[in-house]
Amino acid sequence: MTVTNEMGSADAALPQRADVVIVGGGVMGLSTAYQLMRLSKGRLKVVVIERSYLVSGASGRNGGGVRMQWADRQNVELMMRSIDICKGLAQELGINTWFRQGGYLFLARTPQAEAQLERNAELHHHVGAPTRLLSPEAAREIVPQLDVTDVRVATYNPDDAVVFPWAFVWGYAAQAVKRGAVVRTHTSVERIEPEPGGRDGFALHLSTGESIEADTVINATGAWSVGLNRSLGIELPNHPHRHEIMSSEPLKPFLDPLVVDLACGLYFSQSTRGEIVAGVSMPSEGDDADPTEINLGSSMLFLGRLSRALCRVMPIARSLKVLRQWSGPYDVSPDGDAILGRTPGFPNLIQMCGFTGHGFMMAPVVGELVARNLVQGKDHPVLSRWSPGRFDDPSYTGRGETMIIG
Ligand SMILES: Cc1cc2nc3c(=O)[nH]c(=O)nc-3n(C[C@H](O)[C@H](O)[C@H](O)COP(=O)(O)OP(=O)(O)OC[C@H]3O[C@@H](n4cnc5c(N)ncnc54)[C@H](O)[C@@H]3O)c2cc1C
Repeated sequence: MTVTNEMGSADAALPQRADVVIVGGGVMGLSTAYQLMRLSKGRLKVVVIERSYLVSGASGRNGGGVRMQWADRQNVELMMRSIDICKGLAQELGINTWFRQGGYLFLARTPQAEAQLERNAELHHHVGAPTRLLSPEAAREIVPQLDVTDVRVATYNPDDAVVFPWAFVWGYAAQAVKRGAVVRTHTSVERIEPEPGGRDGFALHLSTGESIEADTVINATGAWSVGLNRSLGIELPNHPHRHEIMSSEPLKPFLDPLVVDLACGLYFSQSTRGEIVAGVSMPSEGDDADPTEINLGSSMLFLGRLSRALCRVMPIARSLKVLRQWSGPYDVSPDGDAILGRTPGFPNLIQMCGFTGHGFMMAPVVGELVARNLVQGKDHPVLSRWSPGRFDDPSYTGRGETMIIG
């Protein structure tokens, strides 16, 4: 499959002014563009500006895991909706998203992790998510290749899934363009300025020398959002963190769920092509450096750590050959919750960042929420809970979602 003009291009003509300019053509920006066009029935003038090619950011580099197994009620409910959207997305977008519901299997080895999974299972039961609390032996019935020696308890949700990320991004882009949005690639927004004359809009200055005005700007640049915000003097506490991942030679299909070992932040699944796709938590070295510099290199340290963790939980991985290794930027928010909504001091600048390691799965529902808010004026509790202004609120507790994997 190739990226064609129908998904946007480097020479797409820009209007002088748009109702909404979305900076960043990752899954967040493009799902929102699609929903804005769909809900406004093509009435809104929407422009997406992407610095590089589509899928060049985290949205083209992730593991494609989509789960409703969260510790926070609101996240469980959001993800139930997101998975519902995902189910119909291949048909809606006209592209094979390779959506495969093999479930997620979480393993707990410590008393704390055990208590967390027990709380989750109870919460999910109340919310209506089909998560089951399992003994280690029952976990092995789902994946017989697991070594569950130190595992205390597991949870399994058969509705959790894995998708092919590129198809999502391309499908959203193609459908947004089909409904009248402009998707301009290979063009960077260098600077944003408030419009003069007391209007609440913005002028955006581009790497091509062009400018475009907008009533509303959405900052959907993920891990790069810090730099863009700084061009307006805005400081938010998110920061980039390099997250590494790898895929193996293809094996005969044997692994249905995506498995997460909470002890070390290991996760692995088998793609529809048979590869084992795996990542693991790594120390945050370098994260305190300049948050506008993003390192996308790969390391031997990661391979060593991942191999040890994977072989411990699934000993057959000892003979597995690694074919590819790469990394992508997590956009880390300090409390684990996204940074979403209107920016203090700039009501028409919407932040859509801080999604850490779970923005892909949330993009279908979050794009819908943001578009509903802009087109229909509909509110949703996450728009205040995840608001960029929360960090300045005296009642802010700093507590957010705790089930951050990787
Ligand atoms: C290795 C890895 C594994 C992951 N696994 C999962 C997973 O299993 N499930 C899950 O839900 N999430 C996962 N994530 C997280 C997920 O990929 C991200 O949260 C999500 O893709 C963020 O989407 P985004 O659109 O906000 O950002 P991005 O996809 O990074 O898009 C931002 C875009 O903005 C563009 N840009 C930046 N600056 C400018 C500018 N000035 N002008 C114009 N364009 C600009 C960039 O080029 C980029 O394309 C993973 C991430 C990584 C790195």
